Amino acid sequence: MESYKVQQHLYDVIVVGAGGAGLRATFGLAEKGLKAACITKVFPTRSHTVAAQGGIAAALGNMSEDNWRFHFYDTVKGGDWLGDQDAIEYMCKHAPEAVIELEHYGVPFSRTEEGTIYQRPFGGMTTHYGKGTAQRTCAAADRTGHAMLHTLYQQALAHDATFFVEYFATDLIFDEEGVCRGVLALDLNEGTLHFFRGQAVVLATGGYGRAYFSATSAHTCTGDGGGMVLRAGLALQDMEFVQFHPTGIYGAGCLITEGSRGEGGYLTNSEGERFMERYAPSAKDLASRDVVSRAMTIEIREGRGVGEHKDHLHLNLMHLGPDVLHERLPGISESARIFAGVDVTKQPIPVLPTAHYNMGGIPTNYHGEVVQKRGDDVDAVVPGLFAIGEAACVSVHGGNRLGSNSLLDIVVFGRAAAFRCAELIQPGAPHKDLPANVLDKALARFDAIRHANGNTPTAKIRNTMQRTMQKDASVFRTGESLAEGSQRISEVFEMFKDVKVSDRSLIWNSDLVETLELSNLLAQAVATMHSAAQREESRGAHAREDFPERDDEHWLKHTLVWVDEAGKSRFDFRPVHMNPMTDEVAAVPLAKRVY
Ligand code: FAD
Repeated sequence: MESYKVQQHLYDVIVVGAGGAGLRATFGLAEKGLKAACITKVFPTRSHTVAAQGGIAAALGNMSEDNWRFHFYDTVKGGDWLGDQDAIEYMCKHAPEAVIELEHYGVPFSRTEEGTIYQRPFGGMTTHYGKGTAQRTCAAADRTGHAMLHTLYQQALAHDATFFVEYFATDLIFDEEGVCRGVLALDLNEGTLHFFRGQAVVLATGGYGRAYFSATSAHTCTGDGGGMVLRAGLALQDMEFVQFHPTGIYGAGCLITEGSRGEGGYLTNSEGERFMERYAPSAKDLASRDVVSRAMTIEIREGRGVGEHKDHLHLNLMHLGPDVLHERLPGISESARIFAGVDVTKQPIPVLPTAHYNMGGIPTNYHGEVVQKRGDDVDAVVPGLFAIGEAACVSVHGGNRLGSNSLLDIVVFGRAAAFRCAELIQPGAPHKDLPANVLDKALARFDAIRHANGNTPTAKIRNTMQRTMQKDASVFRTGESLAEGSQRISEVFEMFKDVKVSDRSLIWNSDLVETLELSNLLAQAVATMHSAAQREESRGAHAREDFPERDDEHWLKHTLVWVDEAGKSRFDFRPVHMNPMTDEVAAVPLAKRVY
């Protein structure tokens, strides 16, 4: 192995990721007087949060009656009772103050006539425990994520935090007692290696959407945090739950926000029928995402798709008129023109369910602390390690996330993690001495991938993985397709042994970075496919044709999955927290999930 010179940096806390979650945590830490470093592989405002369109949920009640308890109920039901009700209470109760805080920080929300924050309806959001329609999603036109990310970055710059931009974190570093002590990272500009030491590490690395062929997420959404956690011998949670968004643009995958249906848009099939009226008579096009995606898949399968191959459907916005489209949905009008060649004032948009969000991830409690099952302790905290945002599984989204709850999750739990660090860590506390060989394993892995000299290009393995996931871990799953998919994805994992990195340099080497990312994606693709194969029920986004019903007797539990270096998976379970944390809200008892 080549010998590497590694520069060491000492901070109180290291945040990996500068999306909405990472930025909120970073300046929250600085605000509390902790010396924080934020490491990010892309420039902060290019993080994937920038792409979020529709908005952020909070029961402000600006447009009509609302209450955070209704939001709590909707989130538990939307997640098909797999979400932890204590964490959901924490999120929904703190949502109004988190959004008002964003407004004060400077997020340019759209406004009502009275000057309050504009709110639109979103799927699965109701009032009075399912009886009315809530207008709960606070929007900055259809560019809410963009507005939030820029504001959060400005706030982070206003506080005393240090950014390491275009640094790629490769592995977590633990001491011999299992306490997380930092991360190893490659400076992509200088080609140098760095050991960022902290009393805690906060992973805010986003989702792993790029495990799929057709995804609304960016090329950079490779789940690097989840990959690092698996390599550290820790479990991920509920990886079988992958959300397919009903309206990805056919052929391109780019998202058309659910806000477009919130503004009155609707889906039609080849007969011009508004088919959602049959599947969800009361919520119709605003039923929960998994429900709409499944209905669309059935329409296509039964021959009522549109287009030459009858393989997609139409989203109609023409009737909303140019003024509403221009004012409320300017971004998606542009996306439809660029990616589908459609003028939304005159033509429907061709759409198809597309991989969109990972409900599963690194298990945490509602402080953002990573938890694992250790003997009888099902919520044992991993000292020094936090995870927030899409990388984490708190679990507030359960088996299916409601639209506009992720932007909320990232700010609420970004803030919560900063608060928790401030409780646990003394600013400037001395760092523990670590053995001289503490980086050896991480460096050896980095070196092995850098010098990988097989015969198969990274892009080929990635493509095979993405097509396997798209085919066998999709909207509908069967025992047969999952058994085949499990075997196939294990073979793809094996292919990585033959990977070829053709460029050995350390500076701006996209071949090397994409190969490191692929190793993270592959482990999570295995975790997803194998977890889906073992869960023999249908719940939320996990729809088994051979087990069409939810089975609370056997499956009301979180899946824990480990994937070892050989790609072998192993399972265990954690109980779902069925009770809220206070008596300010009643637990939502199990019920059939209908819209
Ligand atoms: P990200 O924003 O993805 O940020 C990840 C960060 O981690 C980046 O800064 C990246 O540089 C860094 N990183 C990753 N790996 C490494 C590494 N190895 N080393 C260093 N840095 C690393 N949700 C809503 O609630 N409302 C919406 O309207 C909405 N619209 C959406 C529209 C689209 C098209 C998509 C795809 C999602 C949408 N979502 C929406 C979901 C939501 O946007 C995301 O779940 C959320 O923004 C994720 O934020 P995050 O901070 O966890 O991760």
